[in-house]
Amino acid sequence: MTVSLVKFDGSLDSLRKAVELCHGFEKLDRNARVLIKPNICFRHKMMPPYGMVTTTKIIDGVAQLLLEHGCKDISIGEGSIINIFDELEPYTKRGFRGTGIDKVAGKYGITMVDFNHGPFRELDLGGVKVKIARTAVETGFLINIPVLKTHFQTKVSLGFKNLKGCLSPDSKKRFHTSKRLDALICLLNEAVKSDLVIIDGIYMLEKGPETLAGTAHRKDLIIASPDVFESDVVGATILGIDPARVDYLKEYAQRHGRSFDISRIQIEGEDIESLKEQLEWRFEPDRELLSPSRTTGISAPHPGQTLCSACGATLALALSILGKDNPGMDFGSVELYYGLGLRAEKGKREGTRPSPTKVFLYGDCAIRSNKGLHKNVKERIHSRLSKGSPQVFLIEGCPPTLTNTLLVLMKALLGKPRMLRMLLLRTLKLIGIRLRVYREVFPGWERYRLKDFDRSHF
Ligand code: SF4
Repeated sequence: MTVSLVKFDGSLDSLRKAVELCHGFEKLDRNARVLIKPNICFRHKMMPPYGMVTTTKIIDGVAQLLLEHGCKDISIGEGSIINIFDELEPYTKRGFRGTGIDKVAGKYGITMVDFNHGPFRELDLGGVKVKIARTAVETGFLINIPVLKTHFQTKVSLGFKNLKGCLSPDSKKRFHTSKRLDALICLLNEAVKSDLVIIDGIYMLEKGPETLAGTAHRKDLIIASPDVFESDVVGATILGIDPARVDYLKEYAQRHGRSFDISRIQIEGEDIESLKEQLEWRFEPDRELLSPSRTTGISAPHPGQTLCSACGATLALALSILGKDNPGMDFGSVELYYGLGLRAEKGKREGTRPSPTKVFLYGDCAIRSNKGLHKNVKERIHSRLSKGSPQVFLIEGCPPTLTNTLLVLMKALLGKPRMLRMLLLRTLKLIGIRLRVYREVFPGWERYRLKDFDRSHF
């Protein structure tokens, strides 16, 4: 099959060219039920959307091309991450509204589907039972529109990984807690077929999936192909990530006899050599989130692949707030564990660092998998097993709420006057955000004021 590489010039024509060059609509029956699957992992108005979520500009363009083709039955479906940042509004709805997709849907008479609420079809992916939105499994033509991004757990997040949004909320968690994330992403793409992939590269994101830790760059590129494997191989290559080292692509290649040899892929449009970048995917949570505010003393080892995005994003926001509100503060020797399998991670680090004086177990997974650190302790929040051992703090929840996470961190790490000051400051800011008179900006977000970053794309 063909992969097209087209520079995005702001016009519908560039998108049309990308679809035509890869013969993207060749097999599209105008009477088919068409599903557009963007990447709206989550959307909070506070967070810069660039490179994190699919631009509404591309969704709008795809909708126009489908209508031109004669399609009448068009849906946009997503299952945004739930229980994030203590939000009350249904998460996918917030995502559709926050990106402006709801307006596109209204303009063209497109149905919006929230995959978090089913109906689902239960499938067995290599022994792991998961629920997938029936709309995604039963659609006549699936257009998969991910963003061009690297990812701190899976190296890249493109067409293959975007389909994870079709899972029920519990199944998303199971992908991580089963410790088989890559294998399951591969199997998911066997169960749900993308008929056309359009990688939205107006922006690309380094160290994704979100812009709390990740950094967006302007790229102005569209990558399109009817073959999800080839689109992801080309996308990863452009990001500077060797696709043969992306485990789910490797697994898929082995199972289907596919090659990573880029010279064997028919590429139309731009010359791939001139588009190659060198983006980083690795991400050290403590360094990236706390060092901009020169906050020291908290170590948060990389959680591996067992951490769900809901836990990860809420913790990233909590640490960013803690750092921002306490710039230059040294917390001493604090360790924070999250996700599963962290005892092994801890073991690796022992001997290279002084023993922590305080340990936080963030989320039910970390609490479960580090029982030795807190068993037999009656006091659930603040415990010390024996003299000399670290104080252990449990932040419960699946995922924990942002409010509880901040409260436990503040109580454990700040003196009373500083804690009261932070509480007062946060309350005022929250009121300011609600009244739209205050906008939270974290260090590193100043770049999004540059003219490269255009809010009208959302
Ligand atoms: S505690 Fe966090 S990492 Fe564990 S299943 Fe729940 S959301 Fe996922």
